[in-house]
Amino acid sequence: MADGPALQRYDTVVVGSGPGGASVAETLARQGQRVLVLEQGGSAPLRGTLAQMAGIAAVPGKGAFFHSDGSLLVRGLTAGGTSTLNFATAAAPPLERFAALGIDLAPALAECRAELPIGPLPDELLGPLAQRIMQAARAAGLPWQKLDKMIRPSICRTGCWRCVYGCPYGAKWSARELLDAARLRGAHLVDHARATRVLLEQGRAVGVEYARDGALHSVRAASVVLAAGGIGSPRLLHASGLAPRSLPFFSDPVIAVMGTVEGLPGQSGAGAEVPMAAGMALPDDGLSFSDLTLPKPMYQAFALQVGRVDRLFAHGRTLSIMVKIRDAAGGGIGPRWADKRLQPEDRARFKRGTELARRILAEAGARHVFQSWHFAAHPGGALAVGRGGEAAVDSDLRSATPGLYVCDAAVLPAPWGLPPTLTLLALGKRLGRRLVELS
Ligand SMILES: Cc1cc2nc3c(=O)[nH]c(=O)nc-3n(C[C@H](O)[C@H](O)[C@H](O)COP(=O)(O)OP(=O)(O)OC[C@H]3O[C@@H](n4cnc5c(N)ncnc54)[C@H](O)[C@@H]3O)c2cc1C
Repeated sequence: MADGPALQRYDTVVVGSGPGGASVAETLARQGQRVLVLEQGGSAPLRGTLAQMAGIAAVPGKGAFFHSDGSLLVRGLTAGGTSTLNFATAAAPPLERFAALGIDLAPALAECRAELPIGPLPDELLGPLAQRIMQAARAAGLPWQKLDKMIRPSICRTGCWRCVYGCPYGAKWSARELLDAARLRGAHLVDHARATRVLLEQGRAVGVEYARDGALHSVRAASVVLAAGGIGSPRLLHASGLAPRSLPFFSDPVIAVMGTVEGLPGQSGAGAEVPMAAGMALPDDGLSFSDLTLPKPMYQAFALQVGRVDRLFAHGRTLSIMVKIRDAAGGGIGPRWADKRLQPEDRARFKRGTELARRILAEAGARHVFQSWHFAAHPGGALAVGRGGEAAVDSDLRSATPGLYVCDAAVLPAPWGLPPTLTLLALGKRLGRRLVELS
C-alpha cells in the first residue's frame, strides 16, 4: 500500500520503517513536518504464520554458507522492520556511553517508557519451560530475572508462539504502531520501494532514488534520514559513493543450548511460549542469557542443523537457553551480502557462556544436551556515532554529507551485546526533535 504519489517536496524522506525510522517519522509528523517513508518491504497485516515470516526474514550472512564461524544475519524486510519478528525484549540504553558522546538520551528514553507497553510479563504468561530454567538458574545462585518486554499482557495469550512470526493480535509492540501513528498525522508511506541511492547536488543530500514496480523514481526533501538498518544503511551509503564497501560491524551472535527434561505439567501446546521471558546479563564478560523457546519448526531446524535427529520430537520437553555474546567488530557489508565471522575472543566468550548454560541445564535435570550453530540478529555499528571519518555520524546523527542523517542500528557506537530496539526508538525521537529545530 502506498500513500499517494511521491511527487511533492518533503521536509524529510526516511528510508526504512524499523524502530529507528518509524520513531523519527512519527516525531516529525507529530510536529507537523511533511514526511515520506520509503520501505523496501510490504505492509500486509501480520498473520503470525511461518510462511509469512519466511517471506519477510532476509538472511544475508554470506560467510555462514562457506565458513563454520560465519554468522547467519537475520533481519526483517517489511513495514516495521525487524521489530515485527523480534522477541520484544526492552533493554535500557547505556546512558553513560551516550552521554560521553554528547548525547543525552534520558529525556527521549523517559518518553518512550511513558508511551510504550514496557514491563515484565505476569507469572501466568511465563511458560513452564521458561519457569523451569529460571528456577534452575536461581538455584545455581545466578541473578536470573524476568526481563522487560514490549508486550501487552492483557492481549497476550498463554500457549502461543505467534509473536515470533509476527504477532497478529496486537499484543506484541512493533514499529508498525509508530508508523501507523505517523501516517495518522499525515506522513506518507511508499512500501515495496527499495531506495537505491541518495541524490546529491553540490555535495549535499537532496533526495532519494528508489525502485518500485520495475521503474526508478526519485523524491526530493530538505533532509534525508537513512534508517534501513545495520546492513541496509551502510549499503546505501556505499551505493551513493559516500562510504567504502567494507565497513566492520558487530552482530551480537547467539547460540541456543538445549536439553530435555521430564516432569513438566502436561498441557496442549507445550513448547509454545514467549521467548526471552527471563534471563541475566553479565556485562563485564560480554555475555547475556535468557530462555529461548522457539516454535517447533525452528527448534527442529536447530536439531537437524547439528544432526540431532533423536531430538526432533522432544520440542515440548526441551529447555533452551540463549547465549548471546558481545562480539568484536569485523567483517564487511557488500551490495548483496554481509559477512561476519567469529574472532578468537568471540569463540572464547561462547565457550564460557555455553558452559554456564550447560550448568543451568544440569541443575534443571536436563539430558541429551546439544547446542545450535550461532546466528545473529543485531547487525550494527558500521556507521558508529562519534568514530569520526566519512563512514560515521556525529552526535546529531548527521553524516559527513550535509542534509544526510542515519538513525538505525548502524550508528550504535561500539560492540553492543544488548537488545537495541529501545535505544533506537530513543535515538529516533531525539533526531526527530533536532530536525524540527533545524528546519
Ligand atoms: C529474531 C530476532 C529477535 C530479536 N529480538 C530482539 C529483542 O527481543 N529486543 C530487541 O531490542 N531487539 C531484538 N532484535 C533486534 C531488533 O529487532 C533490531 O535490532 C531492530 O529492529 C533494528 O532496527 P533498525 O531500525 O536499525 O532496522 P530494522 O528494524 O532492520 O529496519 C530497517 C528497515 O529498512 C528497510 N530497508 C532496508 N533497506 C532498504 C532500502 N534500500 N530501501 C527501503 N527500505 C529499506 C527494511 O525493510 C526494514 O523495514 C531481534 C532481531 C531478530 C532478528
